Amino acid sequence: MADVAEAVKRNNIQSPKPNAPQLIDNHGRVVSYVRLSVTDRCNLRCVYCMPEQMKFMPQEELLSFDELFRLMKILSSMGISKVRITGGEPFMRDGLTDFLWQLKTLENIEEINITTNGVLTKKHIPELKRIGIASVNLSLDTLDRERFKHVTRRDELVAVMDTFYALLRHNIAVKINAVVTDGFNTDDIVPLADLTKSYPVSVRFIEEMPFNGVGADRQVLTWNYKKILSALFAAYPTMKKLDDEPFSTSMNYTIDGHYGSVGVIAAYSRTFCGTCNRIRLTPKGKLHTCLYSNEGLDLKHLLRQGATDDEIERDIRQTVSSRYKDGFDAEANRFGHLPVSESMSTIGG
Ligand code: SAM
Ligand code: SF4
Repeated sequence: MADVAEAVKRNNIQSPKPNAPQLIDNHGRVVSYVRLSVTDRCNLRCVYCMPEQMKFMPQEELLSFDELFRLMKILSSMGISKVRITGGEPFMRDGLTDFLWQLKTLENIEEINITTNGVLTKKHIPELKRIGIASVNLSLDTLDRERFKHVTRRDELVAVMDTFYALLRHNIAVKINAVVTDGFNTDDIVPLADLTKSYPVSVRFIEEMPFNGVGADRQVLTWNYKKILSALFAAYPTMKKLDDEPFSTSMNYTIDGHYGSVGVIAAYSRTFCGTCNRIRLTPKGKLHTCLYSNEGLDLKHLLRQGATDDEIERDIRQTVSSRYKDGFDAEANRFGHLPVSESMSTIGG
């Protein structure tokens, strides 16, 4: 196993827990961040994520919040300090805010963030503020109502924008996630980036990944991060690179006179695997060490078979110690169906 102190230093960990048995993978990368997908259900049908006729899993297949909390206790004792709640649409799941309050009681958890499509989110914002949610990533691919309907197959732009303004009013840090999808919203790059002129938000453009639930068969991504950056530089020639935070998946830029910043996330080109500090838990309780891998540890099985916390911890450590080097390696070793056919809603993005 890699030397902890050396890995902590190399990964620029800011506040390692003294004496914590920090999770470290077989490539010396510290693992300190988990993405919890709490449901596969969604009230939108984004074209890049799922088909119109999406079959969701039966409720009993999902981990209960009690099971999730037990896993989070174990993970936080292993040095996981940051959590992102995602889905499907997390606010489709009843009892989410009660679970967030529970998470807050875990002393090693320093940061809880949420990724949401914003349709049902607004009414929960005062409570999210009280809980102390660090930031909300709001998915918003266009500011045009017709195009929004085209991309998400639902007419919900007004509700999403209401959520956006309410987040700002409550002074909760907002990042906008826009998946750049050829033929759908490439004309929206500059209007979305222009939001940073008036609002202190970070607008990040994400390369489309092949997780649309029907098996995207694409060898070449037309709108990769370089092309997205070219479009941004054409509109804002004086745009300047910002220093990226440790473990950041986005490359960020500032624009003269704008309050916010813009960024690109090379999710398909996979430029950030070398410093990846994250693991993912699917709604069914599978632990994945890479978005592009379909191998995972079946934690639901362990929980429901009566495994002890020590046994669960041992299996998590084992899984993290046999991690693929990067997303290309993981993709090359996928078993079963190729091209990838899962929906992002079953993995959590
Ligand atoms: N429903 C919530 C939402 O849309 O924000 C959370 C779940 S969603 C799966 C998490 C993130 O994954 C969103 O920002 C979404 O835009 C992104 N996403 C979904 N499918 C994607 C794809 N095929 N390629 C890139 N990003 C994708
Ligand atoms: Fe739902 Fe989010 Fe997937 Fe869109 S990206 S269909 S909002 S889970």
